[in-house]
Amino acid sequence: MKVLVYSTRPYDREFLESTSQGKHELSFTDATLDEGTAALARDYPAVCCFVHDKIGAEVLEQLSDGGTKLVTLRATGFNNVDLEAASKLGMTVMRVSHYSPHAVAEFAAGLVLTMNRNIHRAHQRVRDGNFRLEGLMGFDVHGKTVGVVGTGRIGTAFSHIMRGFGCNLLGHDKYENSECIELGMRYVSLEELLRNSDIISLHCPLTPETHYLINADTIALFKPNVMLVNTSRGALIDTDALIPYLKKCRTCSVCLDVYEEEADLYYRDLSDKVIEDDVIMRLLTFPNVLITGHQAFFTREAVETIAQTTIKNIDDFAAGRDNENVVKPEAVMG
Ligand code: NAD
Repeated sequence: MKVLVYSTRPYDREFLESTSQGKHELSFTDATLDEGTAALARDYPAVCCFVHDKIGAEVLEQLSDGGTKLVTLRATGFNNVDLEAASKLGMTVMRVSHYSPHAVAEFAAGLVLTMNRNIHRAHQRVRDGNFRLEGLMGFDVHGKTVGVVGTGRIGTAFSHIMRGFGCNLLGHDKYENSECIELGMRYVSLEELLRNSDIISLHCPLTPETHYLINADTIALFKPNVMLVNTSRGALIDTDALIPYLKKCRTCSVCLDVYEEEADLYYRDLSDKVIEDDVIMRLLTFPNVLITGHQAFFTREAVETIAQTTIKNIDDFAAGRDNENVVKPEAVMG
């Protein structure tokens, strides 16, 4: 099958080509899919997309007019696709419903440890010949209460890690997960979780219901020393509400692998450019904020599984076989 792969980075090409082994006719572009680039896919029955591709109604109409029938995502989240519009156009949307949840969970735990013990700052200091410890003091993670919002695959893997550190677990989800209960997790309302957690980690999908889950009102519930971690999707947090909070709070901290306006920044080298986004530039000035560029998924195992699942999705679509990774419009509500 002819497939145009958008938002290609060298590792995408390497893993997709080695998995496909010539079964499919893959073409690659580093362009992001949007209204301006949808025409590139004319006569391609399938496109393969990533998290920053903008797959709204207009783009889908253009793709459909050009003969595209399948949009397959190299990601778990599908908040960037208008599923209703795809369904009306008779297009199939697929995703990678699961790959290594450990990749993201381990990264979230890494952010907690790095931020707490200031490992990133210590590294810079030591390189600069400064061996003083002032400003690097952290807290024992052992015995702290960790609130996990969304206890699906990644939230569960993260809970295992934090339980291993000796933390108490609070969970909030639409469905209770017996694996988390066995770990000792207590399911509570979002409000109770936010009021009582020392570390809050977001692992729910971005849906209309979870958009700005963390906003000025919910931030007001936080404990003074809280650490907030977001490795899920940027728009779970109202970033504009975060900045006044960070200016006031003295002992809180925030770790963000995702940012609501990341699409025009992440996965690019902008080191010799003027970055126009004043919000992220302001966030970067806080010593208690740690930002990474949506890399939590980025392990060899995860990228390999993403490629294998993506090729299997294309195989199944081409053969007209059922596939568990088809995303239906009902999924929008999470
Ligand atoms: P999952 O579907 O296994 O789990 C998501 C959980 O969130 C489910 O248990 C679901 O019931 C719950 N949920 C849905 N709506 C909720 C709500 N309103 N309140 C509380 N919980 C709710 O998904 P997963 O594989 O664990 O992935 C979680 C998210 O992580 C994805 O949606 C994606 O956005 C993000 N992600 C980020 C990266 C990264 O590199 N940073 C990589 C992969 C996934």
